[in-house]
Amino acid sequence: MSIGFVFRSLVLTICACGMVVSAHAIQTASERASALVAAVQDTGVLEKEVGDIPTVLSMLTAGTRFADRVNVNKPVKESALNVYLLAHNLSDRKNVPEVIFQSKILGNCAFVGVSNAIICDSEFVDRFLIDHGVFNEVPNDSLERAKRDYQYAFLAWVLGHELGHVIAGGPAAHFGQANTLDSEQQAGIELAQGAETAADLFASKKIEADRRLTVALEGMLVALIDQEVAEKNGKSPAYGVGLHWDYANRRVIQYFANQDHPEFVIRATRILTFLASDTHEETLKALMATFTRHLIQVNTERE
Ligand SMILES: [Zn+2]
Repeated sequence: MSIGFVFRSLVLTICACGMVVSAHAIQTASERASALVAAVQDTGVLEKEVGDIPTVLSMLTAGTRFADRVNVNKPVKESALNVYLLAHNLSDRKNVPEVIFQSKILGNCAFVGVSNAIICDSEFVDRFLIDHGVFNEVPNDSLERAKRDYQYAFLAWVLGHELGHVIAGGPAAHFGQANTLDSEQQAGIELAQGAETAADLFASKKIEADRRLTVALEGMLVALIDQEVAEKNGKSPAYGVGLHWDYANRRVIQYFANQDHPEFVIRATRILTFLASDTHEETLKALMATFTRHLIQVNTERE
């Protein structure tokens, strides 16, 4: 059994409930998305400091129809890629438009499905790596550098992923595992695991053009997998965690089971496998092959 097969079965299972998404729900989601885009035209809800976002976007949009057409925190332009970074602590503030809460964009980053608009919460952008323990095992003397490089790589992953959705022209889609925009629409989003993978591969392909960034992304994803595995299965005293672990008899496959959305460990595994093969990194390729083989083996046992 291959990963491809596992995912195809998952997608088919989820497809059945996706059918109940009615025309009315889709219209509602699109109206809500337009209201959300209208709400972020008020600079009061936006972050003043956009950091590396314009630089990252200019790298990602090169060669696409959005090259030199990137709008960050500016009035929406239909022909541009319109990116909005929400201010910190919006949930604690008064006078924030209700649609921002209703859309569940807080704590996430999403292509909202209209106006080529990507909206990200700064809390999500700033907290994701820390909250997922990515720096936990980084030695002190390289911590500052890791924070800078991994954060930049993370931005490239998130924005590249959302840009992949915009360019593919699909419906609204979020980066995180929390629901966004509309719970009825959510069934439609979840069934599109294929679209999620395609968006991640789009990001990887763009990032791959920059060797230093690729190395940073790989380091960050390996740390993310290590922490996610340690979180679920505990640390191995002999081998440490995650990718460098002895997996014998461990149910690493918890990552596949009972999930209708690919977890970060699966997404990170796919990206690393793709990068290792595309850039001919033999050591990483071998590491990913071992890790992936264990994922499949445990899954087969469960069926
Ligand atoms: Zn996505």
